[in-house]
Amino acid sequence: MKKILIIEDEPNIRELILYNLKTNGYDGIDAEDGIMGITMVHRERPDLILLDIMLPGKSGYDICKELREEGNNTPIIMITAKTEEIDKVLGLEFGADDYISKPFGVRELMARIKAVLRRYEVTADVQGAKDDTISIGDLRINSSHHEVMICDKRIVLTLKEFELLKYMAENRGMVFTREQLLNSVWGIDYVGETRTVDVHIRHLRKKLSDGSEGNNEEEYIVTIRGKGYKIR
Ligand code: CA
Repeated sequence: MKKILIIEDEPNIRELILYNLKTNGYDGIDAEDGIMGITMVHRERPDLILLDIMLPGKSGYDICKELREEGNNTPIIMITAKTEEIDKVLGLEFGADDYISKPFGVRELMARIKAVLRRYEVTADVQGAKDDTISIGDLRINSSHHEVMICDKRIVLTLKEFELLKYMAENRGMVFTREQLLNSVWGIDYVGETRTVDVHIRHLRKKLSDGSEGNNEEEYIVTIRGKGYKIR
């Protein structure tokens, strides 16, 4: 049974979600403030986190950032209440995997949870026996382990960063426009902007260059001016 942690300070919303998680076959657990939320993530190791933004103790942004910085890549769906928050999350500067805005329907929320968990699992278990490692120079991308390594050093990526890198690596040498990447990696229905792609590329580049520790002069991701990006 998948364990889902909801970090939300409004008791009504929390209870509604918990109830629906249970009826949909999930193990729902909850925290009512940011500090407790972080503690629960460490203690309970949930499969997915539903994260409210305005929280007492510690904001959803800070929690998300903190978890990513410590190398935790549990899928996170942010719960937003205001337009400004949506804008911020759309940039996904914090390493969230998806968002849903209040007020939301329970059905929509369940669909999001299912989709995020499925995307996460597809990268984790489809392949089995076949060799599913893509190598580019010192970089190795392993789909079944959802793992990226540079010279045996593990690079921790969020789900979206991983999917983006994998997609481009599978089509190595091809130049993708931001729109193409948004459609292929985020999906046609995603209400996002092309700058979402730029933000993810920037994060990916930083992680890849931090990971190669200056051993690698060449960038893995190349910007093609006026067009988009490709993997060298
Ligand atoms: Ca709140």
